[in-house]
Amino acid sequence: MNSAARKVERAAVACGGRDGRREKECAVATITCVRCGKSAEAMPEPPMGGQLGATVQEKVCPSCYADWIDQQVLLINHYGLQMADPDDRKKLIQAMKDFLGLAPA
Ligand SMILES: [Zn+2]
Repeated sequence: MNSAARKVERAAVACGGRDGRREKECAVATITCVRCGKSAEAMPEPPMGGQLGATVQEKVCPSCYADWIDQQVLLINHYGLQMADPDDRKKLIQAMKDFLGLAPA
């Protein structure tokens, strides 16, 4: 048996057996979060478009991302950032990478 097949089998076991009822939930990948270091189910959807969204989904757990959303609101309010302004968006993305512990792109 190759390793990919073993991985699928392990995932099926972890998801509660062979009845297939939870098959859909099991499609969600388990990730190790770069911020808190915990294993968690990945967000079901990338939180934003593009490569960055895919990276965040791959590396950050939903609970840490929720922390960032709170932080983002504070930053936007504190600095009066405008999402329509490309410079402000860039600042916010950099702040997000710092906050979540993602490597600078
Ligand atoms: Zn986390």
